[in-house]
This record gives sequence, C-alpha cells and structure tokens, in this order.
Amino acid sequence: MDWYATHGRRLPWRLEPSPYHTWVSEIMLQQTQVATVIPYYQRFLARFPDIDTLAAADLGELLALWQGLGYYSRARNLHAAARAIVRLHDGQLPGDRAALLALPGIGDYTAGAILSIAYNLDYVAVDGNVKRILARVLDYDREIDSSANAAELTNCARALLPSGQASIFNQAMMDLGATICTPRQPLCDTCPVARYCLAWERGVQEQRPVRAPRATVPVREMVGAIVERDDGSWLALRRNPHGLLGGLWEIPVYERHTGDTLRPDARLIADLAQTLHLEITTPGAAWLVTHAYTHFRVRLMLYRCIAQNVPVLVSNDTWNALQWLNDANMPAHGLTGLTLKALRAVQAQRDALL
Ligand code: SF4
Repeated sequence: MDWYATHGRRLPWRLEPSPYHTWVSEIMLQQTQVATVIPYYQRFLARFPDIDTLAAADLGELLALWQGLGYYSRARNLHAAARAIVRLHDGQLPGDRAALLALPGIGDYTAGAILSIAYNLDYVAVDGNVKRILARVLDYDREIDSSANAAELTNCARALLPSGQASIFNQAMMDLGATICTPRQPLCDTCPVARYCLAWERGVQEQRPVRAPRATVPVREMVGAIVERDDGSWLALRRNPHGLLGGLWEIPVYERHTGDTLRPDARLIADLAQTLHLEITTPGAAWLVTHAYTHFRVRLMLYRCIAQNVPVLVSNDTWNALQWLNDANMPAHGLTGLTLKALRAVQAQRDALL
C-alpha cells in the first residue's frame, strides 16, 4: 500500500473517480489493454459526458464510436444500462450491489470495481489479473478457472482487503497485474509484494497460475464481397440487434458449410441473389482475409464486384437494413472487424497499383 500511494494511480481517470467514469472505464478495460482504451475513453467522455447524454444517444452512433475496440456487446449493454439508470434511478449509478447487478453488462467484477473505487465500499474486484497475482503470491497449484477455485481465490482477496481502503487496494491490485505481475515474465525484482510471494520464493512464478488446457478454436469458412456501385460507394448491411455483433454494419458475407459443392464465387452469386435479389459482375481474383473472434476464427474468401441492379433486402435472421457507404457517411456507421479488414485488403491493393 505504501508503494501504491507513491507509485500507483497511473490511470488518469482514476484520480477522482466518479461512479460514471469508473463504470465506463472498467467496461472498456474488459479484455482490452489500457493503452488501447485511453483514446476511446477520451472520445467517449467528450461525446457522452454523463449518463443522461449516453441514454439519449443513438445506438448506431455509439457503435461507430466503439469501432475497433471489439466486444461490442459491452457498448450495447452500456447503452441499455444508461437508459435503465435514467428510468429507474433518476440518472444516478446506484451505489448498491443488487441494483448494479440488475443492470445489463454489470457482473460481480464490475459491481465490485464501482462500489470500491467510486464509493470506497468494502468490495473486492477480482478479474483475471487479480486471480493471477493471488495464485502466485499463494503459490496456488490448482487451475484457477473452475468456479470453485475462483471462488476460493475471491475469498482470499476478501480476507486481504483492508477495511475502509477498498478503492486504493483494488486499484493497486489492478495496476500491479497490468504493469509488474504480468502474464509472462513478471518483474519480480521490482515487485512491491515480492517478500510475501511464495511462487517467487519457490521460483515457480512462470508456472502460476495453472490454467485449464485451451479448447481448439473452430474455423468457419466464409465467402463475401465488396459490392460497389458506379459512384464508388459500397454495399453494407446492418446486423440484427440481438445477435452476434448486433447493430454493426458489414459487407455481405455467407458461411460455406462442409460439403458445399459450389465454388466460392458461385456460392457468393447464389447467396447474393437469394438474400438481396442482387446480380453482380463476375467476381475476379479472391483475397483471403482471416479474423479471430472469441470462440471461432473466420477464413473469408473476399471478392470485389459491381452491382448490376438495385438490391432488396429479403427478410432474414442476420440483417435488418442496407445502405451504400462512402468516405463521407462511413464514419457514422460502426463496422465489424472483419469488414474493416476486408476494406483494408482492397485499399492495399489499390495503393499497390498506384
Ligand atoms: Fe508477481 Fe513476481 Fe510479484 Fe510474485 S513477486 S506477485 S510473481 S511480480
């Protein structure tokens, strides 16, 4: 704690944390590095300085601002929760655990972070970083992801929490995990808790925490196209709000199932005709674009072609709107990561031809 008082608190928004600032920053920091989050966080607060503004915003604008940060359900949940807070709590983020847990996107960790950092209440906030530190300090040799073992580590964190100092304690743990007790090659020589650390004393810090073996990530084969009009704009489709990547815009992409006998370009032509009543010029050479999601990876055969008629979106489970995008209107539309990569692939080819 002494070390933290002099060296810690390096995250600018944590200097005077309001409940709103703490909430937004903790949501953004899930699965995402601090350096990546900072510019997004600053843009977010400039546009949505308080809960009322966020609740009144259009979800599409929020998704566009979130573009590139990934895990878009976080943005949708922030938006839905802001509306619930305005409706149920007079626009104030509640300082009560049960009320926080009832809001979309707020689980044990985020509730603990808000209650401790913003309200200085005696709650722990145990995420992967904190579990890693505890597993090392305690030389915990069981795998940390099972719910029983995670609960045991959470109880250890509660036992360590100094009453009345939850804000600084949890922030110290977060920053220790982010900067010193890192997943690989922890900086034990400079660690302020090294003298308490059993894994360091026993030389097994690189073997802690023990993790369950990773499951093999399935690969989904897809075909898609950047379909352009004569004016250079390209066709985008908005994903339905409740599915994966809901509310984001993407180029038309279709899954190629095992045993599909059609060639990729023929599959593309058939699916565009079926879902959009769209005819295209014959696709030329394809690019291979790969993209990783949390639970699967995508291998996309990407084509570029010209629309031969006006598309009509046929009712389906994937998309609910279509739009022609160009440099002027694209910033107002949040795009999927796969579509961003596809656009970059085409742009790289254009640049190479200049
Ligand atoms: Fe982590 Fe090393 Fe510090 Fe132990 S001594 S808590 S392993 S950085």
